[in-house]
Amino acid sequence: MHRTSKPTRKCYSCLLNLGDRCWMYDCPHDQWHDRRKCPGFGNREFYSQFRAWLETPRRKSGRERRREVFLSTRHTEEHYNSVLPGWAR
Ligand code: SF4
Repeated sequence: MHRTSKPTRKCYSCLLNLGDRCWMYDCPHDQWHDRRKCPGFGNREFYSQFRAWLETPRRKSGRERRREVFLSTRHTEEHYNSVLPGWAR
């Protein structure tokens, strides 16, 4: 069976739907399979845990740190001179 971490169509309005994955379950499809409703859908306890998790300070991932450096260095004359010497005359 095709297993993916991507939420299903039925997850559309769920708070735990992070777009490319579910915050609670590894395979959202399995949660809906053979059930009328996912146990996490509209679950107040899970939603309160998720809100608490959102408020905790998180360590930045490598991708986020690289993006910050990239955004801080681009569009500066110093940066372009280091990449393309003689760019600014
Ligand atoms: S908790 Fe259930 S309904 Fe919500 S995103 Fe995850 S799988 Fe979908």
